[in-house]
Amino acid sequence: MTTSILEEWHEQRKNFNPSNPDRINQMHEFKEKLKLEEQTEENLRILVDVYCMLRMYADAYKIFTSIMDLGNKKDRKKFGSIKYYIDNPNFVKPLYPCKIREDQTTKTVIPEFKYLPNPLQSKIFEAEAVVTCDCCEQEVDVYYTGGIYAIEEVEYLCPTCIHIGAAAKKYDGTFQQDLINDKNVVNANFTEEVMCRTPGYVSWQGNNWMAHCSDYCAFIGYVGWSELVELGITERFENYTGFSNEELSESLMNNGHHQGYLFQCLECGLYVLFSDFS
Ligand SMILES: [Zn+2]
Ligand SMILES: [Zn+2]
Repeated sequence: MTTSILEEWHEQRKNFNPSNPDRINQMHEFKEKLKLEEQTEENLRILVDVYCMLRMYADAYKIFTSIMDLGNKKDRKKFGSIKYYIDNPNFVKPLYPCKIREDQTTKTVIPEFKYLPNPLQSKIFEAEAVVTCDCCEQEVDVYYTGGIYAIEEVEYLCPTCIHIGAAAKKYDGTFQQDLINDKNVVNANFTEEVMCRTPGYVSWQGNNWMAHCSDYCAFIGYVGWSELVELGITERFENYTGFSNEELSESLMNNGHHQGYLFQCLECGLYVLFSDFS
């Protein structure tokens, strides 16, 4: 195997995000490149991982069963999880290459939020109507209704007023109630950005932003157990809910009484789950 393809694999794996069409397409490109490499066991094992990330379990199964060693505990476990999706094909949809939407349907500029990579997909911002931002008084068609922890009530905020810190400043408020697991975050700018320039998610008990490694995590979205199954990450997330996977599989439901909030570490790529009750 060439070093460059191995490096690219580490890079792709680290940056992969199943809700980002660009990343999905890049992973497909990488898959095609990998297929052209020599079919060593090492390469085929990476290809199996790529297929699993893309939830193309039938392809993963075909290759894995030709190279696996069932005397090896890790292989047995992996075989079990691939087989599970083969036996329950309705649990996951493969992530096929996607067409990137170029026709911009909203006019409002959405700045890039470090901790919110998919502002619309993660449903933090809404785009259902044209409203007036309370802060800058401009008409916008992408807006935040989650409010701010401040004395004054705020109905609508535009992405830019949040991003540049104007809203936090004007209302002397913050967007998060609390920060969790942030003992290793030493950069005060990170904390300021999360508290004052990143919109909070809507929660039952107050929004608490997760940190991991030495930075805050990106908010990926509202989830229940079935969303975690669909993402294929039930075996690989860090659990801050206080419940076992078995308990979560029974009670965690999107838009339910036990709501999950999914984050992803910007440094190590690990998914981090938090939840609360109505
Ligand atoms: Zn505004
Ligand atoms: Zn991390």
